[in-house]
Amino acid sequence: MSSTAPTTVTRLADYRAPEFLIEKTQLTFELHEAYTDVSSQLTLVRNLQGSQAAHLQLHGEQLELLTLAIDNRMLTSKDYRTTPQNLTIYNVPERFVLHCTTRIYPEKNTALEGLYRSSGMYCTQCEAEGFRKITYYLDRPDVMSEFETIIIADEDAFSTMLSNGNCVSDTVKDGKRIVHWRDPFKKPSYLFALVAGNLACLEDHFTTQSGRQVLLQIYTAAKDQDKCHFAMQSLKKAMRWDEQTYGREYDLDRFMIVAVDDFNMGAMENKGLNVFNTSCVLAHPASTTDAAFRRVEGVIGHEYFHNWSGNRVTCRDWFQLSLKEGLTVFRDSEFSADMNSRAVKRIEDANVIRSVQFVEDAGPMAHPVRPESYMEISNFYTVTIYEKGAEVVRMLANILGPALYRQATDLYFNRFDGQAVTCDDFVQCMEEVSGKDLSQFRLWYSQAGTPHLQISDHYDAAHQQYSLTIRQHTPATPGQTDKKVLHIPFKIALYGNQAALPLVINGQNQGTETVLDICQNEQTIVFEQVTESPIPSLLRSFSAPVKISYDYQLPQLQQLILLDNDGFCRWDAMQNLMRMVLSKAIDGEDNHAEQAALIAVIKQLLTNHASMDAALLACMLSLPNSPYLASLYEKADPVAISQARTQLQDQIASELQTELLNCYQTLQDQVHGLTAPAMAARSLRNAALAYLLHIDEARYRELAQQQFAQADNMTDQYAALCALVHAEHATTMAQEALAAFYQQWQHEALVVNMWFQVQATRPWGDVLQTVQKLLTHEAFDARNPNKLRAVIAAFASQNFAQFHDKSGQGYQFLAEQIADIDQRNPQMASRLLTPLTHWHQFTDAHATLMRAALESLAQRELSKDVYEVVSKSLNQASH
Ligand code: ZN
Repeated sequence: MSSTAPTTVTRLADYRAPEFLIEKTQLTFELHEAYTDVSSQLTLVRNLQGSQAAHLQLHGEQLELLTLAIDNRMLTSKDYRTTPQNLTIYNVPERFVLHCTTRIYPEKNTALEGLYRSSGMYCTQCEAEGFRKITYYLDRPDVMSEFETIIIADEDAFSTMLSNGNCVSDTVKDGKRIVHWRDPFKKPSYLFALVAGNLACLEDHFTTQSGRQVLLQIYTAAKDQDKCHFAMQSLKKAMRWDEQTYGREYDLDRFMIVAVDDFNMGAMENKGLNVFNTSCVLAHPASTTDAAFRRVEGVIGHEYFHNWSGNRVTCRDWFQLSLKEGLTVFRDSEFSADMNSRAVKRIEDANVIRSVQFVEDAGPMAHPVRPESYMEISNFYTVTIYEKGAEVVRMLANILGPALYRQATDLYFNRFDGQAVTCDDFVQCMEEVSGKDLSQFRLWYSQAGTPHLQISDHYDAAHQQYSLTIRQHTPATPGQTDKKVLHIPFKIALYGNQAALPLVINGQNQGTETVLDICQNEQTIVFEQVTESPIPSLLRSFSAPVKISYDYQLPQLQQLILLDNDGFCRWDAMQNLMRMVLSKAIDGEDNHAEQAALIAVIKQLLTNHASMDAALLACMLSLPNSPYLASLYEKADPVAISQARTQLQDQIASELQTELLNCYQTLQDQVHGLTAPAMAARSLRNAALAYLLHIDEARYRELAQQQFAQADNMTDQYAALCALVHAEHATTMAQEALAAFYQQWQHEALVVNMWFQVQATRPWGDVLQTVQKLLTHEAFDARNPNKLRAVIAAFASQNFAQFHDKSGQGYQFLAEQIADIDQRNPQMASRLLTPLTHWHQFTDAHATLMRAALESLAQRELSKDVYEVVSKSLNQASH
C-alpha cells in the first residue's frame, strides 16, 4: 500500500486513567467573519488515579495557538511543545489554571467536525474527537467538567446564540452581543455544543413528573418553522415515556433542538442542546413520508434518551461506545414500539440486523460490540455498536424480565450518575439485581461474528414427546479465530393444526411460549405431552441476533404465515418461503412447488386483508432484500440475485393482479390523514401498487399516475413516483412525473433529496449515467452529506442490481467519488465505502473488480478514516 496515512492503533488494553482532571472549563468564543478566536480557562488538577507524569499533554488539531499561560504567567516556547495532534506543557503544578487562546477557521471546515458553518449558521459537532479542533483539551470522555461558555459576536450578526445548559446573561456592549451560558452538570467535551445563527424558534413547555416546568425550543431556518410541530409532539411523548418506563426525569430548565442542513450523522445529543440533521427533525404531511415521520419520532426519542444513557452516565472510553448507543437504541426502539405497531418495529429492526449487521459481522470490518482496537473511532459508529448493541441490551432485559430489568437500570443510573463507566459496569448491575450469573452472557460484548443455530427435531408419537436439538456455531472473524459458546435466549412456541400447543418441559407447564436458555454447543430440549406433530415457531420476536436453519416443509411455512400470533415469525415464515423460491431460481433448480405454495398463501392473505394488520401484511409482501440473499451464499452472483427477485415480483404481480388490484381499490378511502390505520392502509396499498407496475399495461401505470397527481400526502405521492420510475419499461409518464415532482418541490431540500434518490435507485437502464448527471444538477451540492447519501449512497447501497453491474463501472465510480470526498469530509467518505468492503461475498468476477476499485484507492493519499477501511478490506484475503 503506497498511501501515506498514519496507522496508529488505539487499544482497549492500553487504557490508562487520565493524568489530570478538569474541574472547570470556561470558554469564550469571538465569532468573526473570517475566523473565530477561542479562549479557554481550564482549572486542572492532578488525578490521583493517574500515573504521576511531570508533563501535561493535551489534544489539539488544526489549531493556531495564540497565547498560553499558567496561573497568569505567560508561557514561552521552551515551556511547551506542539505537534499536529498534541500540546505538551512541561513540569506543571498539581493544581493550576491554564489559559489558552486559539484561532480556528469555521468557514474552511468541510469535515463538519469541530466548529463549522452550515447555511450561514455556526454550529459544532464534537463527538467523538471534534472538541480538539476547537481548543487544546483533554478530549476524552472520562474527563468530565463543568462548562461555562461566552459567545461574542457583532450586535446584529445573529438572533440566536446558544450553548449548553442555562442562559446566565445576554447583554450588548460596544456594538457586541455577549451571551453567557452555564451547564451545571459535569460532562465530557464531546457533549459540548455551540450554535449561532439567524433562526426561528418553536416553543412549548413540559411539566416533569415532579412538577418542574421545562422550556422546549426547536430552532430552524424561518421557512421551516411550520415543520417542527411533529418533532415537538414527539419530544413531549419521549419525555413522558422515559419518566414512565425508566423513571428518568429531565434535569435542566430548558431543552433545545437545532436543525442544521449539513450534518454527517442523524443527530447529536449535546447536553441540553441537541443538534439535528434537518432530515431527522423536520416533518410536514405534505412533504414528509410516513416512514420519515416515524424516523423523526425515533431520533427525537433517541437523542432525548441520551440525556440519561450517555450524558448523566457516560462512557469511560470509546471502546465502551455501545454502553450509550446500544442502550439508547434499545430505549428508542421500545419507545417507537409503544407509540406505533410493535410487530412492524420488530420486523424493521430484525431486517436491519439481518441484512446489514450480519453482513458487517461477516466482513473485514467485523468487530465485537465492545471493540478491542481502532485506527479511527469515527469508523466504529456501526450497526454492530448501535443495533447489535441494542439487541444485547434487549436480551438482558428479556433474561431479567421487566421488573428486575427496571431495578437494574435504576441501580445503574443512580450508582454511576456523573461518572464515565464501562459496559461491564452495566452488566454488573444486571447481575447484582437478578442474582443471575451473566459471565457467559458477557461474551456477547467481546466476541464478534454471528452465531448460527442449526436446528433439528424429532416427534415421538408413541410417547407424545417432541425433541428439539440446537447446535450453535460462530464463524471466525478477523483477528478472532476460535469462538466460544454463547448464552442465547431462544424464544419458541409449538403450533398444532389450529393453535399454539401447551409447552411442558420436565413436567413443568410453561404456557404456550417459552424462552430456552441455549448455553451449550449442542443442546436437546424435550417437550412432553405433545399430542400432535407440531410446527416449531422459532426465535420468536427475534429473541437473539442469530441466524437459524431449520428444514421447514412448505405446508408448515404456510401454516405459520397464516396462524402465528408473533408478527415477526409470520413475516419470517414468509421470508423463508420467498427465500426458498428465490434460492432455487438462483441455483437454476425447479421451484414450481415452492412458487405455487407462495402464490397460494399470498392470495389467501390478500383476499382476507381486511382481517389483519395492513402494515404487517405490507411488510410480509416485500421480498427478502438482495444483500440478505447474497449473504446466504459463499460466493453470490449479484446479477442472478437481482434477476430472480425481479422475476418473482413479475410473477406474483401477474398471477395475483386481481387480488392486488382489489386490495388497492378497497383501501382507497382509508388512506387519508396521519392516524395509524391510515398509515397502515397506505403502506399496504402502495405495496400492491408497486407489484401492479410490474405488469406492462398502461392501465396500471395510469393508476400510479392518478395517485401521483391526486395524493394529499407525500407517502402516496412518492410511492406513485417510485412505482412509475422503477417500472421496467421506461415511459414518458415516469419522465413527466419526475419533472412535475421537481417543479413542485424544488425549494424543499429534503424532498429534492428524495427526487435524487428515486432516480439513483432505479434498477433499470443506464443509471450510472443518470447518477453522473445528477452530480452536476443545480440542486446537488457535494459538500452536503444528505445530498451525497441521496445520490451516491443510494446508488451504491440501495441499488444492488446497478451497482453490481458486471462491467465494474459502478465500483470504479464509487472509488473515484470517495477519493474526491475524502479531501473534504473523511467521515462521509469512509461511510460511503461500505459496499465495496463486501467484495468477498461475491463471485470471483465481481470480487476482482471490487478489489480493483479498493486498490485504486489504496494508491492514493488517504485520510486515516478511509485508510483504515481500505487496508482492512484488502487484507481480508488472508482470512
Ligand atoms: Zn446515540
